[in-house]
Amino acid sequence: MTDPSILVVGSVAYDSVASPEGERTEQLGGTAVFSSIASGYLTRPGLVGVVGTDFRDEDVAMLKNHGVDVSGLEVADGNTFRWAGSYVDDLNMAVTLDTQLNVFETFNPTLSSDHAGTPYLFLGNINPDLQLSVLHQMSPRPRVVACDTMNLWIDIKKEPLTQLIDLVDVLLINEAEAEQFTGEASMVNSAASLLHHGLKLLVIKRGEYGAAVFHGSFSFAVPAYPMARVVDPTGAGDSFAGGFMGYLAAVGSGVEDEDAEAIRRATVVGSVMASFAVEDFGVERLRNVTHAEINERFTGFVNLTRFHPLDGGQGLPTPWADTGHEMSDAKR
Ligand code: AMP
Repeated sequence: MTDPSILVVGSVAYDSVASPEGERTEQLGGTAVFSSIASGYLTRPGLVGVVGTDFRDEDVAMLKNHGVDVSGLEVADGNTFRWAGSYVDDLNMAVTLDTQLNVFETFNPTLSSDHAGTPYLFLGNINPDLQLSVLHQMSPRPRVVACDTMNLWIDIKKEPLTQLIDLVDVLLINEAEAEQFTGEASMVNSAASLLHHGLKLLVIKRGEYGAAVFHGSFSFAVPAYPMARVVDPTGAGDSFAGGFMGYLAAVGSGVEDEDAEAIRRATVVGSVMASFAVEDFGVERLRNVTHAEINERFTGFVNLTRFHPLDGGQGLPTPWADTGHEMSDAKR
């Protein structure tokens, strides 16, 4: 097997989830699992994480079948990380009911020399101390480093998280968390404040409203794919990140001004992966999607957002223009 082109760090979990569509207990989840499966449709991911001795062989086999290099998945004495959450009141916001760190409590990731040289790095949501430890082991520094986080770490680990944000190229964060981190009450102001940390690119995930991208030289937004039914939003953000970073890695793109077109496409690929993730519980849909379905949904996004610019700088129709009559404030 070839070396991975993207290294994905994060949690590997057994999740118990309640949504308006039903409940599941101990289903495979975790930020690194969703991200590595999503990026595995585009490139070769390597997963760095830890599981306990209770981790199921079939789950390792499934990751391998998706092209994920699991040589960085450590098995430690104890139980796999557990998370329980509910979307019963609001599909856009998980209420955490229980978190059991288990083997994550003593996890100290050590990268192999093959992994340390991976050109793309995605530091999925996990304790920022661990994200920093992995970043410091990379040599040479990867071409693109991206990270994600969550409200818990903004509450209890703001200092290492700020250090991390100062070092990465790309931050993927959801809208409420961007506002929580910056103390700003609007997305645009929180984006401006976050870009001051030296980020090259900021991706704000907005749940059912899609995603917005802020770069020093341009901004871009895509809606979420219109879904008749959302079954389980768990992992939507991680699947987005896997698709986004997986696409950049697959086409060898950076995140500079000249990479704007690749960044726009990556945002759509991320949105495609997120839309599959929410169609069923856990990774059930994401792991069964075909390349034809991915391409078809990408085209669906193109059609959803396509429109022509105004021709020849003429502007929109102006019904009062030839009467010499300007619209008064009252008519506006
Ligand atoms: P998302 O829905 O993309 O925000 O991420 C959901 C995943 O995050 C679930 O599969 C959980 O296992 C995982 N998760 C929840 N809390 C934590 C945490 N404190 N650290 C790491 N992963 C977590």
